[in-house]
Amino acid sequence: MEKIKIENLSFSYDKKNEAIKNLDLTIESGKWIAVVGHNGSGKSTLAKLLVGLLVPDKGSIYIDGLLMNEENIREIRKRIGIVFQNPDNQFVGVTVKHDIAFGLENQQVPQPEMVKLIEEYSEVVGMSAYLNKEPHQLSGGQKQRVAIAGALAMNQDIMIFDEATSMLDPEGTKDITDFIIRLNKDFNKTILTITHDLEFARKADEIIVMNEGEVMFLGTPDIIFENSKILKEIDLDIPFGLQVYEAAKEDETLNKQKELVEALWEYSLNK
Ligand code: ADP
Ligand code: MG
Repeated sequence: MEKIKIENLSFSYDKKNEAIKNLDLTIESGKWIAVVGHNGSGKSTLAKLLVGLLVPDKGSIYIDGLLMNEENIREIRKRIGIVFQNPDNQFVGVTVKHDIAFGLENQQVPQPEMVKLIEEYSEVVGMSAYLNKEPHQLSGGQKQRVAIAGALAMNQDIMIFDEATSMLDPEGTKDITDFIIRLNKDFNKTILTITHDLEFARKADEIIVMNEGEVMFLGTPDIIFENSKILKEIDLDIPFGLQVYEAAKEDETLNKQKELVEALWEYSLNK
């Protein structure tokens, strides 16, 4: 089923330069899509258009077949949520409990049900012992977990993570990335991760490479990584395992040893 459908989407901040240009994209239900591309390629703009924080100049967005417009935006917000880069900017509650409650209050969920949902989802993200804590008592990773709990409690089918781990330490990053994978595999959410981390992007079902407001390439991680020209055009760090594979493939002596090259490819995949 088509979960997200984007048709001929354009958006400009200054009515001069287009941050998103005539973009078409379809995302199937239950997929995990990684969006990569250098700074300024339009990834965050696309994310904000998808959750209705920005209004397109042209084109349409359908979520679950619902056209994004003023009339449908409330319904759409129930279905799609976003976690941003900076955990401090999105913590809106006085305490963890209030923060998770925020979205539910907006959806006018009755109090007893809200209490139940807060308990249930703070448990899922491992934050139930922190319900009465204030933001300054939490690490960045813990704040991101709270943001995820809030989104889970709202039972949104689609979750966007816009560089949601880029301000976290390695431990917090692993924590949240593992969790994102679980959201997709165990909770069957459709996931969009915007990331600079190609190792992580590689685990997704598909990768979208953005460039100057357009989808430059869309395909499975295997196809994209095989086509290293694409990766070189976007200035992202190519994973080490893949660099070794590339070097072996280019080397006239080494590349005759098909088994070695294949083993390196396998290795770079499993890394
Ligand atoms: P990415 O997330 O891929 O780094 P963005 O979507 O943030 O890219 O930016 C796309 C383009 O839009 C860039 O040229 C950027 O400078 C511009 N842009 C982003 N946010 C704003 C803003 N709030 N006001 C004006 N221009 C912006
Ligand atoms: Mg961005």
